[in-house]
Amino acid sequence: MNDRSRKLLGFFPTPVVELKRLSKYFGGYKIFMKRDDQSGLAFGGNKTRKLEYLLGDAISKGCDTIITAGALQSNHCRQSAAAAAITGLDCHLVLGGERPEKCNGNLLLDHLLGATIHWAGKDRKGETIPDIFQQLESEGKFPYIIPYGGSNSIGASAFVEASGELEQQIKDVATIIFACSSGGTHAGLEVGKRFVKQRHDLIGIAVDKEESAPLEEQIAELAGLTSSYLGLDYKFKTKDIILNRNYLGEGYGILGDREKEAISLCAKLEGVLLDPTYTAKAMGGLIDMVTSGKIRKEDPILFWHTGGAPALFSCSGILLK
Ligand SMILES: *Cc1c(COP(=O)(O)O)cnc(C)c1O
Repeated sequence: MNDRSRKLLGFFPTPVVELKRLSKYFGGYKIFMKRDDQSGLAFGGNKTRKLEYLLGDAISKGCDTIITAGALQSNHCRQSAAAAAITGLDCHLVLGGERPEKCNGNLLLDHLLGATIHWAGKDRKGETIPDIFQQLESEGKFPYIIPYGGSNSIGASAFVEASGELEQQIKDVATIIFACSSGGTHAGLEVGKRFVKQRHDLIGIAVDKEESAPLEEQIAELAGLTSSYLGLDYKFKTKDIILNRNYLGEGYGILGDREKEAISLCAKLEGVLLDPTYTAKAMGGLIDMVTSGKIRKEDPILFWHTGGAPALFSCSGILLK
């Protein structure tokens, strides 16, 4: 693989643990968890890996400011703000929605971490970033744009490396399940799977309806770009990508019964905190696939915990009902 600039921001490798009580609860499955929620960067999460390479790139290009975007409770934005704090860069966040009355969860942390926040109304995927970029340039800044979710070939390349990290920790996993949104994690894991010559199924659980091209197409394209960025020559087709849309529930960020059950089981049986938007949907999917017999008992499952628990503190009222 090619050399890339990397700024160390987290604690790696993240642990792999066996969820023994949860496995037993479902009648003898073997369920493991990759704890990227423990990546160490201001409450951690999967974006820490991507940001190590994105910030590395920004710094090597002499930039002094990062701009990125996300939803009001974006974990990506919170980790970006922390990454900027560590490296001494300014951070501008473009958040969907209007300034809320209560500043809690990730939004509270964005403020504490010193980010400047721009409210973007309906545009929660960074549509207005170019305007802010121009504004900052006209003020004499050198801004660096981190795309929505940190999902370009630089960000996704971190998950190629993560596949190697996992390979050192556990062998013979049959299925890896994780929450999929902007697709960078999925794309990186697809490239990584080939790089470490593994055969597991990678099942992304969709958490959001896509507005443009089908997400499988975007992931296959990004996997191809990531592969060439790393000097590898793997090709990916849309049909290579497994994305499960059965667990969208009531929509992005909405806690339904399935999500609540997943949060509750992981908390009470394992002391593991899931987040309401991503991992609760993905674990809800895992539970359904296990209880409906779609996954065989003898096939070890790994759940990639991508983080996000700070958002729990924005929905305490809903979770206690
Ligand atoms: C961003 C995020 C994801 C999705 O990762 P993508 O690379 O954007 O698909 C999953 N879980 C959590 C907690 C996240 O913050």
